[in-house]
Amino acid sequence: MNAEIIAVGSEILLGQIVNTNAQFVAKRLANMGINLYHQSVVGDNPQRLTIAIKEAAERSDLVILLGGLGPTVDDLTKQTAAKFLNEKLIIDQAALTKIEQSFAETQRKMTENNRLQALYIAGSVALPNETGFAVGDFYRNSNGSDFLLLPGPPSELKPMFVHQAQPLLEQTYFSQQKLASRVMRFFGIGESLLAAKLTDLIEQQTNPTLATYAKENEVTLRLTANAASESAAQAKLDQLEKIIQQRVGEFCYGYGDDNSLPQVVVNLLKEKNLTVTAAESLTAGKFQATLADVPGVSEVFPGGFVTYSNHAKSQLLKIPAEKIQKAGAVSSLTAAAMAKQAQQILNTDIGISFTGVAGPDELEGQPAGTVWIGLALKDRPTQTKLFHFSKTRPYIRERTVLSGLDWIRR
Ligand code: ATP
Ligand code: MG
Repeated sequence: MNAEIIAVGSEILLGQIVNTNAQFVAKRLANMGINLYHQSVVGDNPQRLTIAIKEAAERSDLVILLGGLGPTVDDLTKQTAAKFLNEKLIIDQAALTKIEQSFAETQRKMTENNRLQALYIAGSVALPNETGFAVGDFYRNSNGSDFLLLPGPPSELKPMFVHQAQPLLEQTYFSQQKLASRVMRFFGIGESLLAAKLTDLIEQQTNPTLATYAKENEVTLRLTANAASESAAQAKLDQLEKIIQQRVGEFCYGYGDDNSLPQVVVNLLKEKNLTVTAAESLTAGKFQATLADVPGVSEVFPGGFVTYSNHAKSQLLKIPAEKIQKAGAVSSLTAAAMAKQAQQILNTDIGISFTGVAGPDELEGQPAGTVWIGLALKDRPTQTKLFHFSKTRPYIRERTVLSGLDWIRR
């Protein structure tokens, strides 16, 4: 295990400031038992920095870059390192929020450049900056040297090294590996599309790794990381999950091997103190039965309606028969009326409705799998959505129920 330091900045090169950061880091590395064989200084010049990085990466396990993480045009360390590593720079949302808040508080205008300080190299661990804005970076490279990027101002570098970098380096290089894994559950996106959106991560990631599994009606993603400690492994998972959430987060409904969509919805309703009822045609009570599989559902679900025939729809939900006749049972209008009536009759916060063609035969000239779902919220306009499911009758009814649950979750 050997490291080297590259300090970046023309003012160091030209002797205007003394390279105290290198001294600080070098001492600490020695204390940690990390061999340091080279130190160099490069001006604020991306070409010469690239050459220095290449050389360093050829001979050292860990390349430590000091300085040049700031907001000005001469701060090019992250960009240059990312380019060398063939990685993108991504925004660390927490760091960006901190920058934005600070600018808002002091009523200064934030420029695009200030955002740059919140960037970190994809696949790396972003190191929070306690005393400034620029995030640091620790990049574990499975097929080359690792990189550590630290800010130039000593008041930022020192706490970041001591509190963030040092523990990470120790965990990474000196202690036993701990394994952590996390299961993310998705609904409404197929396995192949999910995989396509995450191809780069699935193919390039070695730690954490991720793999997709298709279950009936849903896809799960398993993230596995190893690190020196449980918390470091979890941090890695957090990091990767952040990227996944950015790309396909809208489809992620929950976590864990045994946390189903109905459970997630019931928990959510409990949390928000909301009640739900349903008016079901093609699903004929399946939605309500599914909800009721979750223990403790009575807090959020008083009951509902099974209105299979048009007659039942007009009798139980008080929708004028002519209205259904005119619009058709499988229509946006009927779905909306069913949802709204159910919601009003039982005075719940949410009313959901399902009307469609379960098949195998068509209905009202519409093919099997045509499904309207209506969603009525108290004091808000009722919405409807049209779905086209394929395959068999059981699949269509199951899929309808899950789509309703997913809509409520969102
Ligand atoms: P900033 O946000 O301030 O631009 P930065 O990460 O881009 O931070 P630099 O621009 O490289 O850092 O340096 C900012 C200041 O930090 C320098 O002007 C200098 O005062 C101090 N500094 C930078 N590098 C070193 C070093 N190697 N040793 C001591 N001080 C340094
Ligand atoms: Mg700077």
